[in-house]
Amino acid sequence: MSDSDRRPPFYLGIDLGGTNIKSGVVDDVGQPLSAVSLETEAERGPEVGIDNLAAAGRRAVAASGLAWAQITGVGLGSPGTMDLSRGMLLEPPNLPGWNQLPIRDLLAKKLDKPTVLQNDANAAAYGEYWAGAGRNTRSLVLFTLGTGIGCGIIDEGRIIEGRHSHGGECGHIVIQMENARQCSCGGYGHLEGYASATALVKRAIEALERDSTSSLLRSIPEDDLTSRAINQAADSGDALARRLMRETARYLAVGTVCLMHTIDPDIVLFSGGMIAAGPPFLEDIRNDIRAMAFPTLAQKVRVEYAALGGDAGFIGAAGCARMAFCKSV
Ligand SMILES: [Zn+2]
Repeated sequence: MSDSDRRPPFYLGIDLGGTNIKSGVVDDVGQPLSAVSLETEAERGPEVGIDNLAAAGRRAVAASGLAWAQITGVGLGSPGTMDLSRGMLLEPPNLPGWNQLPIRDLLAKKLDKPTVLQNDANAAAYGEYWAGAGRNTRSLVLFTLGTGIGCGIIDEGRIIEGRHSHGGECGHIVIQMENARQCSCGGYGHLEGYASATALVKRAIEALERDSTSSLLRSIPEDDLTSRAINQAADSGDALARRLMRETARYLAVGTVCLMHTIDPDIVLFSGGMIAAGPPFLEDIRNDIRAMAFPTLAQKVRVEYAALGGDAGFIGAAGCARMAFCKSV
């Protein structure tokens, strides 16, 4: 991008994950000027982690070619649980030991910039709304399908944070009441316990133990059995793998229909590692939605894959800084 295409003011977005930190500088229309990645080293505790967040941010600004003084504000996306208004992490499962941590103010002090904290899936949803597959829409739901299922909801440009910072936690909506599987959060019957990449692998292992039909999956060592391997086996015509992918699509459709009947959004997006399954998986989800949703919604709500990949988090976090610190928005 040439310098003249960069639209000031500029914002720094930081996406904190349990393993890696992604950071980049983003301009006023959501274009990333840089993207860097650094290890979180979460197990070394919050002090080292916050140093790494600051280091990732400084590297992202250096890589953008901008001066530090040109950065208007910082947006930090973090895995939960948190108190957004106080900028605190409460007890984040992916960051053991980072409990009751005033992460927003600690990072703001370290970087000497105004900083805003947002839930990582909310930030990713905002990124897609601002600069990705949800551009030119007014409301959107994003599901991120990975180890868990994250979710973010944008309505009329506003992130649904809820009164207690737990709005949009739709990976944990209940889709099963009887004989329900346990979710990683400890609850039972939650969408994440059925349709995350981790849950898909777990269901595959159980199915292999239960039925003795031949399957490509049987030749894969349990440690190498990933959602991607299951999808590839399905593509190769393996009946068990196909059934597992079909069931996953159905679970996701159930969750999506709940959200469609609650929010009535313009668009529902899926992102994360599992969308490597490509168009057939998306078509399965769409077909199941059509069978369950109100006809008007089934017809009008678009269901697509997200567009920004792993950059959505830091782009959306930068967008949150823009909302918080730019008076002209
Ligand atoms: Zn749960």
